[in-house]
Amino acid sequence: MSGVVTALARCFALPVSGITVTLAALTGAEDILLAEGNAADPGLALALARRVGHLPPATDWTALTVTDVDHFLLRLRASLLGGGISANQNCRAPVCGKRVEFSFRIADYLAHHAPQPPRGRGWAAVAAAEPGWYRLEAAGETQARFRLPNLGDQIEAYGRRDGMAWLEEICIAPANLPRQVRLRAHAAMECLAPPLSSTLAGDCPDCGARLEAQFEARQFCLTELQDRARYIYDDVDVIAERYHWDEEMILALPRARRMQYAERARQTARAT
Ligand SMILES: [Zn+2]
Repeated sequence: MSGVVTALARCFALPVSGITVTLAALTGAEDILLAEGNAADPGLALALARRVGHLPPATDWTALTVTDVDHFLLRLRASLLGGGISANQNCRAPVCGKRVEFSFRIADYLAHHAPQPPRGRGWAAVAAAEPGWYRLEAAGETQARFRLPNLGDQIEAYGRRDGMAWLEEICIAPANLPRQVRLRAHAAMECLAPPLSSTLAGDCPDCGARLEAQFEARQFCLTELQDRARYIYDDVDVIAERYHWDEEMILALPRARRMQYAERARQTARAT
């Protein structure tokens, strides 16, 4: 039965697009990519997703929403490091300052951030004629249109000083909409593609003070995966020393097999 469970977990639908992604096994090449990449650069998320998140033909990660990409990274993190997340923060109450742990299950977090019908009081968003675009339906707002930012947009915005303003400019039209209509467009976008970065709240178990912590899903997952990936250098070092294989060959090994060889090489080194 465990084989069936594993197969199901490695293949899942992305929440916004509904596209099915299949997780591939990581090799040392992905560890190097992670270890030497910048977690704040959306190009790292793209490079990793293209290598280990297989999509159906003619689909590409650049065209998928930021929510789908971050959902993928949380699922990848769950498959490699487990489904529970815990992060520590010091209580801000001046007399307390105790270390407080925020912990939650990735599956619960994703269920809580599932897409919702895009409507609010007096408005709704419906698909527009142009693919990927939506129209805001409310009295006097028939001109307002928007689309969901994708990873390609995010990569382009990362290289610009006016990144956030530029994203708004390309995703919400026309440019001169009243503020209230823009806010509705943003609310509709958050219904259709809920951001996976959010504020976690809880009470300090020691003093009862209210605590809040910002959870940035992508940054959190990539940073954890980077910490783990940096063992690649030790593995290559000890395997090359023992077996005299070249770096390219060692990096091509599936992670689990590489760790087996590295462990044997360490045992041999300890014994001599
Ligand atoms: Zn406290």
